[in-house]
Amino acid sequence: MPNRIPCSAERLDLLLPQMIQAISEAGAFHLARQYMTEKRVRILEANDSQISSSVIGNAGLYEQQINLKDGHLISACSCSQPEEPMCRHCIAALLEYHRWATHQAASRSSARKDSPSRPQTNHARDPSPLTLQSSIADIKLSEILKFVEWLQPAMKAIENEQPLPPPPVIDAGEVSAWVLAIKSLEDRRRETEDVLATLEAELRDRKAYAGRLTQQLQASMEELKTAQTTTQGLEREVSTYRDTLKKLGELTNEVAQYDEQIRMAAREILEKGSHFDKVATSFKEVTEALQAAAKVTP
Ligand SMILES: [Zn+2]
Repeated sequence: MPNRIPCSAERLDLLLPQMIQAISEAGAFHLARQYMTEKRVRILEANDSQISSSVIGNAGLYEQQINLKDGHLISACSCSQPEEPMCRHCIAALLEYHRWATHQAASRSSARKDSPSRPQTNHARDPSPLTLQSSIADIKLSEILKFVEWLQPAMKAIENEQPLPPPPVIDAGEVSAWVLAIKSLEDRRRETEDVLATLEAELRDRKAYAGRLTQQLQASMEELKTAQTTTQGLEREVSTYRDTLKKLGELTNEVAQYDEQIRMAAREILEKGSHFDKVATSFKEVTEALQAAAKVTP
């Protein structure tokens, strides 16, 4: 989504760095100025109301499209920076365009001398629109030779996944931007490899973890089986105990019945005993009476 910012400037070259700074995040503005100083900004096409540019950021090359329309500054960048209301790359493009436009105005008013501080895009004489074509004129053959010389071992290093050789000593400009772009690509490749290695290590860890979990699961299943067997054994024992308890209950009932019978028998015996006692007493009395009678009649 492009960002839309209300803007009072009528032309993009009237947008001063301090105005840009006033609406930007401090960190983003600081980085943008650094990108401009390090000549990492390339204006691909620009005029009073629009800028197409690319910036070599810290993690790759990003493209910007900035328009000034109906009192609004509309900016879009291919990066994913959350900076509001504009990312560092759009700010860098605006700063670079302002620097270039200021330089153009100065060189027009003074004698038309070529200045060493030409814009990154090098469209010296025609401020609008800027085009890529004239940039070739700025590149020194000696720098290209140095670059090509560096490029061969650099490609070999990339093929063999080794660190890049030290970059050639080249003045900041087009060719140094190529070197920066290659370094940035190589850095990204390395980062991707690191991420890949981390992901592979994570995958191995997770596989090992899954293996451990499977083993634990198998062990748990074995335990469950053993527990089921034990439970079945216990159930059988419980049913045996239940049968035994039932039999014990029946026996207790029988014993109680026998007890009752014994008690009744004991009562009967007691009753019979008292009857015998009475008979014995009667016998004693009869005997005593007989003895007394015998004494009376000798
Ligand atoms: Zn950006």
